[in-house]
Amino acid sequence: MRILVVEDEHRIANTIKKGLEQERYAVDVAYDGTHGFDLASTEEYDVVILDRMLPGLDGMAIVKRLRNESIHTPILMLTAKSQIEDKVEGLDSGADDYLTKPFSFEELLARIRALARRPKHTTKAILSVGDVSLDSKSYEVKRAGTHIPLSSRQFGLLEYLMRNANQILSKDQIITHVWNYDADILPNTVEVYIKALRNKIDRPFKNKKPLIHTVRGFGYKIYV
Ligand code: CA
Repeated sequence: MRILVVEDEHRIANTIKKGLEQERYAVDVAYDGTHGFDLASTEEYDVVILDRMLPGLDGMAIVKRLRNESIHTPILMLTAKSQIEDKVEGLDSGADDYLTKPFSFEELLARIRALARRPKHTTKAILSVGDVSLDSKSYEVKRAGTHIPLSSRQFGLLEYLMRNANQILSKDQIITHVWNYDADILPNTVEVYIKALRNKIDRPFKNKKPLIHTVRGFGYKIYV
C-alpha cells in the first residue's frame, strides 16, 4: 500500500514516514499544502494522511478540492485542536476520519488499516488466495501451512496482488502502489520482484498449481 503524508512539521512527518515504512508501506511526504495537493491529485494513493493546518493550502481546502475533482482516496485528517466543531467541519469537508494530535502510532495504524479496507470491502486483516494466506497485521505469509519469509517489498507486492486478486495489474499500477514516488523503479524491477515472489510462493510447491500468472503484454494476476 502507498500512503501520502502531508504535514509541515518535519519531525512529525518524518516520524510517521519512518514508522509506516517499518510497517511495509510505501510512503511519500509533502511538507506544504500545495505540494500535498499536487501529489494527491496526480499520483495514486491508498490513504492520505493530511494535517489540518498547513502553509500554502490548508487541509480542509485540500480535501474539498480533491473531492471536487472526484478524487475519492480515503483521507485521515490530523489536527492539533480537539474541539468538536473542528471535527464536524473536517468530516463535512469530505475527510473520512479524524485524529487529534498527539496520537499514538498504534492508533494511527489502526485507522489507516480501517480506511484502506473500505473501498475494497475486505474486512479481514488476513487475505487469502487458494492456500496462500497473508496476515497484514503480523506480516505472516503461509502457503499450505508452511511459513514463507518475505522481504518487506516482496510482502508489499504480494499484498497488492492479493488485495486485487483475479484482476490484471500492469507494471505501472504495481510500481504506483508498491513503491514510493522517489523510488527509482524501472518496469524491469517489477519483473525481478515477481520472479523472486514466484520462487517463494509457487516454485517450492511443485505439486500445486502456480498462483502468480503473467498476462503477456498486460501485466500480472494472482488467482487460483
Ligand atoms: Ca501543521
